[in-house]
Formats: sequence, C-alpha cells, structure tokens
Amino acid sequence: MNTAVDWRRDLHRHPELGFTEFRTASRVAGALADLGWDVVTGPDAMVAGERLGVPLEAELDAAYERARAEGGDPRFLPAMRGGHTAVVAMLRGSGQGRAVGLRADMDALPIVESSGSGHRPTRDGFASRWSGAMHACGHDGHVGMALELAQRLTADPPPGPVSIFFQPAEEGGRGGRAMAPTGLVDGIDLFVAVHLGLSLPTGALAPSIDGLLANSKLRAVFHGRSAHAALAPQDGRNALLGAASATLALQGLTRVAGHQTRVAVGRISGGTSSNIVPDAAEVLLETRADDGDVNADLEARARAMLAGAAQMHGLTVEVELIGSVTTARADPSATEAVTAAGRAVGLRVVEPAADSAVASDDATALMRRVQASGGAATYVGLGADLAGPHHTPSFDFDEAALASGVDLLERLVRG
Ligand SMILES: [Zn+2]
Ligand SMILES: [Zn+2]
Repeated sequence: MNTAVDWRRDLHRHPELGFTEFRTASRVAGALADLGWDVVTGPDAMVAGERLGVPLEAELDAAYERARAEGGDPRFLPAMRGGHTAVVAMLRGSGQGRAVGLRADMDALPIVESSGSGHRPTRDGFASRWSGAMHACGHDGHVGMALELAQRLTADPPPGPVSIFFQPAEEGGRGGRAMAPTGLVDGIDLFVAVHLGLSLPTGALAPSIDGLLANSKLRAVFHGRSAHAALAPQDGRNALLGAASATLALQGLTRVAGHQTRVAVGRISGGTSSNIVPDAAEVLLETRADDGDVNADLEARARAMLAGAAQMHGLTVEVELIGSVTTARADPSATEAVTAAGRAVGLRVVEPAADSAVASDDATALMRRVQASGGAATYVGLGADLAGPHHTPSFDFDEAALASGVDLLERLVRG
C-alpha cells in the first residue's frame, strides 16, 4: 500500500504541465480501477471544446510518448491522447448518506526546480527528472492525499457515495471549467477543494477561503511586416513595438474603487535579430478582480489597449482567451462540516492568510456547478510549512501535512 507521501514523491519526480498529465492521470485511473472504483476518463470526464489554452499537438504527442515510456498506465493512456487528462473516480457508499465530492488537481508548472543541496527534493532524490517542469504548488500532494484516502475508503466504505475529481490544468484556469459541464458533479451534496500551503503553517486549517479572484488570461499576437532595419526601416511594421507599447499601457490599467484588482504582463517575445524589423510578437497577460463583472470590464479595457497599440504601429493583433477563472462563495453548511471534521482530527481552525485572498483557483467552476445543482461547496486551505513560496524553484512543503489532510478528508466523508 502506498502512502500519500509515496505517491507525492513519485509525482514530484514526474511533473506534467496542464493537459499533458498523461502519466499522472493514467496511473491515478489505474490505481482507482484496481481498488474497484468506477473510473471515468478521456473525453467523458471533460468537455473537449471547453478547454482553453490546450498545448500544440506536437507538445501533446511528445508528452504522451514520454508517459508511455515512463510508467503511464497502458489501460488508460489511449483515451487521454490529445490532452483529455481528467479523471473522475466514484465509490458507492455502503448505505444511505450524503454524496461527497473532492477535487484534486494534478498539474505542474513550467519552472526549473532548484538543484541546491538545501532543497529537500534534490537532497532526498525525488526532484523533477523532467527539466523545465516542477510541482511547485503542491498538486502532487493533493493527488497523494486523494489516493491514500481512496485506499482507506475502499477498505471500509463510508455510508454515502464519494467522487474524486482529478482535475488537469488548474494552473492557468483551464481544467475545472472544462470538467464542470460534464454534469458529473451534479447531485453532490458536499463538495470540497483542498489546497496545501497558502501561507498557513502545518496543523492549521482554513475551512473557507472566499476571496479567490476571478481572472482572464490572454495571449496577444501582433503581426507586422519585416524589413531591413537599416536599409528600409520605413517599410517595416514593428510587431515588437506593438507588444512593448501594449505592455506599458497595460500597467496603467485603471484601478476600481472598492475592489481588489490586478493586472500583469508575464511574458513578451518576438523578433529574430538586431537588423531585422520584427514581423511578429507575443504578449501573455492576465487581469484579476474580486468580482466577475469587474474582471470582465478589465479584460475588455485590456483588449482595447492591445488593439490601440496595434493601430498605433500599423499592426494587426489577434487576442485569444487562454484561461479564465470565476469567483465562488463558500456555503456555511460546507464550512461548518469542514470545521467540525478538522477539529475532530486535531487541526487548528484559523482564518485564511491575508495573501491567499488574491489567489485564483478554477475549482470555482466546479463549486458553482455543485451549488447550481443544489449542493454545498467550499475551498479549503490546509496548512503546510513551506521551504519556498508557491510557484518558485525552491518550493517544498512539510509532508507531515499530508497525513492530517487524509485524516481530515476521511472524517469529512464519513460525516
Ligand atoms: Zn499554483
Ligand atoms: Zn495550486
């Protein structure tokens, strides 16, 4: 029997980016099928057309082949080909009881993991084997907890049915919104999404984090015309200038009184050489707000700035929505259930850390769907001491948090 820590370390060594979680998802599906759970995966677990920011086919294929060579489960891999990496696993209860749904996200981040000797995954031999990808948010721990929980529940089934939603592509807000419309969460009475860390110490539990921000992630591609930069610059239309002008303009996006808002340009790229007017450039940006309508307004203004920057430099611009997350509110009954379960297993119930309120998580798409079908939902912060901040090369969490997380979830499921 593998513990949450065993699973976590295996996944930490094999981090996969959003919609390429072929090894992770197929092994999860295999483990749960072996335990006798009903497993739904592939296009049945996620509406293909609702996915945003799906990687290019060549990237998907390379990741698929790597998973096939490195321990992916051949029973489940074929259905996932092309980025259909969601898994929903269900256990029927032993009698009558409330239906519980849990979310575990599976994706890693495009970060090169620290190779420093002070970084525990490196020191203890479970650092990422795949350079350029890293579990730097704790999702490896989320999957580990869910799988140890599944083993315990199989051995001694709870009264009501349990469903675990293994979600791809949380980073970027792309997977939850594609899983929600399958309707697989409909009929769930209590839905809980747990996230490790979030500036809470080991042993602490925040039963409802309400301030999650809505966000929109955009990719803008400026198109111009190349020319010799010295012989005929007047013939060129410089796409990089469009990207640069837009970046500066976006930093001046208006603030909104009474609301938390954010805007960020995280990447600009374009051009090939110093003596060629660049004919293409790309900008990756995001807006966030504590209200969906405010975020929609910021997104519209950002799009106007991108169009304006293009016009200013004689360019065209294509703007694509590559991720979006909505807000959600916790239900008091769900918060109370998590609070009671947490206290029963010895966790210390606390308020969310102030900085977790500006995070986003597209579990909100699943929460909203549960709420729309009459269930209750909450987003939970499970404390874990961190060696480095989320989304950085030195990120690591206290694995002691995993055992208490499994205890918490088991208690919650058993009611
Ligand atoms: Zn993250
Ligand atoms: Zn995360």
